[in-house]
Amino acid sequence: MAVLALAGARFALADVHAAPEPIASLDLTEIAPGNYVHYGTHEERSPGNLGDNANIGFIVGNRCVAVIDTGGSAAVGRALRQALRRVTQLPVCYVVLTHVHPDHLFGATAFREDNPQFVGHTELPRALAARGKFYANALKRDLGDAAQGSEVVEPTRLVKDELVLDLGGRSVRVHAWPVAHTDNDLTVHDEQTGTLWLSDLLFVDHTPVVDGSILGFIKVLEQLREVPASHFVPGHGRTETPWPQALDAELRYLKVIVAQTRLALKARKTIQEAVDTVGYSEEANWVNFEQFHRRNVTSAYAELEWEE
Ligand SMILES: [Zn+2]
Repeated sequence: MAVLALAGARFALADVHAAPEPIASLDLTEIAPGNYVHYGTHEERSPGNLGDNANIGFIVGNRCVAVIDTGGSAAVGRALRQALRRVTQLPVCYVVLTHVHPDHLFGATAFREDNPQFVGHTELPRALAARGKFYANALKRDLGDAAQGSEVVEPTRLVKDELVLDLGGRSVRVHAWPVAHTDNDLTVHDEQTGTLWLSDLLFVDHTPVVDGSILGFIKVLEQLREVPASHFVPGHGRTETPWPQALDAELRYLKVIVAQTRLALKARKTIQEAVDTVGYSEEANWVNFEQFHRRNVTSAYAELEWEE
């Protein structure tokens, strides 16, 4: 069996080099037994990186595999699938779509042929209906022909609270969170190895993005802090900082915005004045700050404006 598997892996590798795939191979790190992560780049998506901007990966059980996010284009999804096939020939029975953002989900089409259950938050279908078309057009604009085949894949199994996936000898707990990074965030917890996949509930180095509720985000992070984990996977970036201290930088960033936005509101500053002044003490701590920070303050202002 082992020899056969190895031969299969070699064949797959040779195949990759021969085929005109845009991504020849995709690096995987086995961060805990059976948990394989591909770390995406902090660059903006481009025809050069094909939308390989988020951390994605999979968990292998004795019976089958759960994929956790699929990358920002069909090309990334195909490369992930090939990388997975170099690790195991077991069927892919689940593809977890952690939330609506395009850098995490446009690779899902590559797994359609595996006929898995596509797992998403109960709020995901509504979010996809509202934004899917816009995201697909924007991807086409940014990647051109390389976006080909990238389509929104609808979830076929919804998680309201929690769902346990049985991969054979390995139980994987999918948790649906209240509004935080978005209103449709899932985490995945492999209990056997204590590996927690946080997706965009945790940004490392990359400026955090608030597309749900900043107060909700802080609340969810305080709850996540209590989850025991030996290993963890952020949605963007990687770190040697242990769990749960790895959450601290993001929490501090969000709390600085809340505190300073409340002061700005109290001082009757306009939204523009708030955007120009709030949170710049954090600028040196994050990459892509200009791109995301002002938007975070804008949404915090709108959210906090109505507080007593
Ligand atoms: Zn996101």
